[in-house]
Amino acid sequence: MANFGFELNEDQLQIQKWVHDFAEGTMRPAAAEWDEREEFPWPIVEEAAKIGLYSFDFLANCWADETGLTVAMANEELTWGDAGLALAIQGSTLAVAGIVANGTAEQVGEWVPQCYGEPGALKLGAFCVSEADAGSDVSSLRTRAVYDEANDEWVLNGTKTWITNGGIANTHVVVASVDPSLGSRGQASFVVPEGTPGISMGQKFKKLGIRASHTAEVVLEDCRIPGRCLLGGKDKLDERLARAREGKKSSSQAAMATFESTRPIVGAQAIGIARAAYEYALEYAKERKQFGKAIIENQAISFMLADMKTAIDAARLLVWRASWMGRNGIPFKAGEGSMSKLFAGQTAVRVTEQAVQILGGAGYVTEHPVERWYRDSKIYTIFEGTSEIQHLVVARAISGMRLT
Ligand SMILES: Cc1cc2nc3c(=O)[nH]c(=O)nc-3n(C[C@H](O)[C@H](O)[C@H](O)COP(=O)(O)OP(=O)(O)OC[C@H]3O[C@@H](n4cnc5c(N)ncnc54)[C@H](O)[C@@H]3O)c2cc1C
Repeated sequence: MANFGFELNEDQLQIQKWVHDFAEGTMRPAAAEWDEREEFPWPIVEEAAKIGLYSFDFLANCWADETGLTVAMANEELTWGDAGLALAIQGSTLAVAGIVANGTAEQVGEWVPQCYGEPGALKLGAFCVSEADAGSDVSSLRTRAVYDEANDEWVLNGTKTWITNGGIANTHVVVASVDPSLGSRGQASFVVPEGTPGISMGQKFKKLGIRASHTAEVVLEDCRIPGRCLLGGKDKLDERLARAREGKKSSSQAAMATFESTRPIVGAQAIGIARAAYEYALEYAKERKQFGKAIIENQAISFMLADMKTAIDAARLLVWRASWMGRNGIPFKAGEGSMSKLFAGQTAVRVTEQAVQILGGAGYVTEHPVERWYRDSKIYTIFEGTSEIQHLVVARAISGMRLT
């Protein structure tokens, strides 16, 4: 009897439809407006919270799926609705992933629900790693965490940049250096709870795309947090630092542990934009007539659409494989997580560009959504590791060499 298949089960299909209906009914009609306003779309996130889509329960439900596919599917549907709005809804998940990847069960129970809040009293989370001089090179973070033993407090100082939900989040998860001489092995993750003095928003950035998602600097000035806010706890950190000082191998590094688990999800988001653009371009190509026939009747157009569909399906297969591997604890020996994000991100950029091409002049103006999707897609080759860094991860994994 076959024990392998690509068919989604009833539960998965039901969730897919539920998220799709929200994307189609609530996100699509609002997308252009929030892109133009460049503000955090509180009413849309509120709608998502009302139906349980913006909640820890929904995330837990998705994670419960042993195939790992539900998280990917839900993310694809949301970005199919709109990437900026989807990131407003999903931005807190990165903080949650940071807590889950590095925290104890008790810390997960305490802090994760505080990244969502509830309808009428929404809360947000932010995951703060990047700095002006430490983007791809997370080993050179300058933000420092110093332990004040007398008060059992950590004191954080530094400036984070390009942070999704930065400064407007209730809970910030901050990766900081405890021992700079150890590079990324000397780093740890901390939760900065709501209302902590010494954390503030710096400049808010204006962006090419995903404009409904809030991106800003986060400034930490003598920001004091209780000892229990160190994710994973002090004993584990001391043990890890001692191993690093002795030159022994460590199993995980704070920022990397988070990124590894989230890359296939980011890949799934990229596929959602690509699929939206492909579907739109396909319909347009059947309708639009030039030289007395539909433009799809030209092989130049129909083959382009065939390539777009092929790339989208290939990207999805890579994302689903990595999602399944991640959920089932199968190590990414060939950088499969990075591979999926790399291919899906590049696919989104190429497919949305092809969609603009198929629409011609109509693709370049704001009457049609493809110009927005084209702008939105570009971030998927940049954040959570640029395409070059994903190449590096895969190249190192397949060669076993410390390539640069
Ligand atoms: C909209 C948005 C949202 C973001 N959200 C968050 C967030 O929530 N939290 C967070 O911590 N960060 C966030 N980021 C930051 C993001 O993760 C970084 O921008 C990204 O990691 C790249 O770092 P960088 O911008 O400093 O580029 P750089 O590292 O300066 O890279 C510049 C160029 O050099 C290339 N390059 C660098 N090193 C190498 C190398 N070794 N080999 C080959 N090429 C290389 C890069 O691929 C890139 O093309 C966000 C960024 C944006 C734009």
